[in-house]
Amino acid sequence: MYRVAIRFYEELNDFLRPSHRKRELDFEFGGRRSVKDLIESFGVPHVEVDLILVNGRSVDFSYIVADGDRLSVYPVFESLDIGSVTRLRPSPLRDPRFVLDVHLQKLARRLRLMGFDVDYLPDRDDAALAETADREGRILLSRDRQLMMRKRVARGLYVRNTDPDRQVAEILDRLQLRGLCRPFTRCIECNQTIEELDAAGPDFAALEKTIPPGVRSWCREYYRCLGCGRIYWKGSHYEKLKKRVEMILDGR
Ligand SMILES: [Zn+2]
Repeated sequence: MYRVAIRFYEELNDFLRPSHRKRELDFEFGGRRSVKDLIESFGVPHVEVDLILVNGRSVDFSYIVADGDRLSVYPVFESLDIGSVTRLRPSPLRDPRFVLDVHLQKLARRLRLMGFDVDYLPDRDDAALAETADREGRILLSRDRQLMMRKRVARGLYVRNTDPDRQVAEILDRLQLRGLCRPFTRCIECNQTIEELDAAGPDFAALEKTIPPGVRSWCREYYRCLGCGRIYWKGSHYEKLKKRVEMILDGR
């Protein structure tokens, strides 16, 4: 038998049952076990962990736990000065890209609205999600804890909130992305970038037919998605989305 002491810090406590939260736990188990397996046996997905100290020394996920070890497990954090220890997460991406689980369609649309590159398909299984995250270096967002425990998922966040407005605020705050928001630069439907159309240019005449006459009568500014060709203008729908963007940026 191995006997260890383990403590989870900050929001990692969200994953523990109430009696295990915010205290050192004595834990006994038999057989060789990596620290990744030990941590996940408490229900904490490894993607949420940024730093593991064993007897004060940082280790990676492959570390084999020894009898008598004292473990401290920390979440992904930005502000704590931890010097030269082994951070398990690569430094935050300055151009973060995401892949979202099938149940997060509304969050996908909101993140695209804020300008982020979001790969979302309504029908993708866990293996395909993990594969896409791994292959393209995307951050996987999901409310499925089992998916987050897959070894292949290096970057990911378990989404705590269920309301889509709260979810987008949660992601922006936890990954400190508010300064990287570029609202209205990406197509909400297909994720490609949007460019302004030259309403005086030679190509515009052909496109103009697809715009309702009631809009053409007053609108001189149009944008087109480079992916699906959808044309956008600043009508009543835009005003609604603008309010949503302001709400998200204000963190309300
Ligand atoms: Zn599009």
